[in-house]
Amino acid sequence: MTMILNNVQDALVNAYSQFSLLEGGENANYIPYLASIPNNVSSMAIVTVDGDILSQGDSDFRFALESISKVCSLALALEDVGPAEVQNKIGADPTGLPFNSVIALELHNGKPLSPLVNAGAMSTVSLLKASSSEHRWERILDIQQQLAGAPISLCEELNHSEQTTNFHNRAIAWLLYSADAMYCDPMEACDVYTRQCSTLVNTVELATMAATFAAGGINPITQKKVLTTENIPFLLAEMTMEGMYGSSGDWAYTVGLPAKSGVGGGILTVVPGVMGIAAFSPPLDAMGNSVRGQKMTASFTQQLGYNLYKNR
Ligand code: GLN
Repeated sequence: MTMILNNVQDALVNAYSQFSLLEGGENANYIPYLASIPNNVSSMAIVTVDGDILSQGDSDFRFALESISKVCSLALALEDVGPAEVQNKIGADPTGLPFNSVIALELHNGKPLSPLVNAGAMSTVSLLKASSSEHRWERILDIQQQLAGAPISLCEELNHSEQTTNFHNRAIAWLLYSADAMYCDPMEACDVYTRQCSTLVNTVELATMAATFAAGGINPITQKKVLTTENIPFLLAEMTMEGMYGSSGDWAYTVGLPAKSGVGGGILTVVPGVMGIAAFSPPLDAMGNSVRGQKMTASFTQQLGYNLYKNR
């Protein structure tokens, strides 16, 4: 194991040193808080299924979870209603359109197609079993913490920044409602979805989330069983199809691993049975994925030969 970890460490140092200062991209500017984050911070972390932790860069820096929260809520929905209902009510296909697309809904009779775009994520939040808005939020925060194996909290400043600018998402929530694809009050779903995007994590916590998926639902740091092992393939399949938005196909082609990005600059990648990988840096490409995060992750996994479509 020491020998293998040495290789992992070398690949990590190599990926980080090559790409952590790469030029290009811009911070998300439609959420004022995200626009204000320094664009020169980068970090990477690895958590293996045995609980080993390796990191590079500003791995204590906490950043906005944003769309990566969609995977946590999807994991909870799979527990609550099962894979068949997720597929029937939300969908299991790529939209081929931007993450906040309204056209995607128009083209498919209001069905969101994927739980990993804004429409599908709000619909997923609405599917969760909850007795009140606060209960819905508490359950989501709890699953984020269980997956990360660490306390996670809402960033009030970020949440305020998002709640006062999320008019597009509110419109999507009402469109879903009009198409019978909303399973609680649409403004409750939008509010709770906005909160779930407004929590902060560092790369070690993000890599622990990925490692919990890699380890079949057992958090390798806390040793707690968080998710049903049988549900993990459905979660990873959804990530493969839409986790990197419009770049998901290119990501599958070049990296070949399920991943999920967020406009906060984070990317979570899963090597099933082996490890979770997290990369972070705020500047994004036109699709909304971290420029450096993609390069660092691709370099790291390619050096080690991790790719689901490869016979290792
Ligand atoms: N809170 C953001 C939104 O709803 C999350 C989007 C993302 O990370 N792609 O627009």
